[in-house]
Amino acid sequence: MKKITIIGGGIIGMTLAVYLDHTQYEVTVIDHLTGQATSASAGIISPWLSKRRNKKWYRLAQDGAAFFGKLVQDLALDQTIYAPSGTLILRPEGELLNLAELAETRKETAPEIGTIRLLTRLETKQALPLLKPQPSLSISGGGRLDGRAYLLHLKKIAQKKNVKFIEGSAVIQQQSDGWQIKVNEQRIFSDILCVTAGPGIEQLLAPLGYQVDVRPQKGQLLSFATPFHTDNWPVAMLAGEGDLIPFADGTILLGATHENNAKWDLTPTEEAKLQLTAGISDFLQDPNSLFSMPLSYRVGTRAYTSDFAPFFGDVSGQGTLFAASGLGSSGLTTGPFIGYLIAQSLNSHMHHASHFSQYSKPMTDYITHSVDLT
Ligand SMILES: Cc1cc2nc3c(=O)[nH]c(=O)nc-3n(C[C@H](O)[C@H](O)[C@H](O)COP(=O)(O)OP(=O)(O)OC[C@H]3O[C@@H](n4cnc5c(N)ncnc54)[C@H](O)[C@@H]3O)c2cc1C
Repeated sequence: MKKITIIGGGIIGMTLAVYLDHTQYEVTVIDHLTGQATSASAGIISPWLSKRRNKKWYRLAQDGAAFFGKLVQDLALDQTIYAPSGTLILRPEGELLNLAELAETRKETAPEIGTIRLLTRLETKQALPLLKPQPSLSISGGGRLDGRAYLLHLKKIAQKKNVKFIEGSAVIQQQSDGWQIKVNEQRIFSDILCVTAGPGIEQLLAPLGYQVDVRPQKGQLLSFATPFHTDNWPVAMLAGEGDLIPFADGTILLGATHENNAKWDLTPTEEAKLQLTAGISDFLQDPNSLFSMPLSYRVGTRAYTSDFAPFFGDVSGQGTLFAASGLGSSGLTTGPFIGYLIAQSLNSHMHHASHFSQYSKPMTDYITHSVDLT
């Protein structure tokens, strides 16, 4: 049996680990559990109204959102992990009309959008009682995913499939017949290596002579523990950085920040709290009824590329070194699908670039040799 090591047990790495064919591969996941974006995030799966012009990115995000139907079934995700809660979009009235038109157009290739409806001021408040009466656009197919709960669930599935987990920081060395990975004081040999380490990918691939176009970005979310009956509340996407994400147990998340200069810092800050609460106050009926609730922070580091698009695929061109990163702010939407695509490619031994090219630019746009290794 061939050995596969996955460095990085975030949303890509863990989805990949469970979808690999365990009759063909012996799988190990290594993670140092620091700064992970997935467990800090609680996300909105609703990419259809994005105005980004990158068509490959949109196709990936659209197919990533559609993939949730299969994911929920394959992995038996319950509503504490993923819920098709619907999305409310809050914007000035004129903008909502344009967005409703865009949604109808996008529905032609993405029926998962579901029902698209402009809500009156009163209907909006009835749908999400924390809000002031205001017009909104309701997209019934939108959903929310709790990144941390997703990973815990997948770890249980993976353990049943004999996937091994090692906690520690990995360093890679190339060998003539494969890879040697040093973690803690252990050395592990692997035939195939998958590096799904978020922004940590740069440091991991540097000793192999690769330069990676990726940078870290700090994200902070506020988590309020409330006694509200949030069971059927949709997610609300506000203009700017504030999204309101209610979970069935009364937890309400507010986020997230996009801090480009904070690099790897993971400290919760008062500035983030002020920025996020100020961003949402105008939309709420009684801001204090939320802001006075017990508060905690979730902080993580996202990975960004210069063109804001993710990259994934076979770096080696030989089916021995795979990489995926750069998911930015939409990784909960695209990450599971990327993990699945890589697993499919490994399971079927179809590693050539065309397997991924409809969703991603060539790897060489993001990963280049910095030194001549010959
Ligand atoms: C606050 C916040 C809110 C967000 N909200 C949303 C949202 O609403 N919708 C959405 O779609 N996306 C959202 N995102 C983005 C999304 O969470 C990320 O894009 C996605 O989780 C990235 O997944 P990943 O698997 O690539 O990386 P990660 O989840 O970061 O996993 C990478 C893993 O690699 C490990 N690692 C790195 N280097 C090493 C090493 N040398 N050795 C061992 N392990 C290593 C790290 O510990 C980490 O666990 C949000 C992100 C944040 C931070």
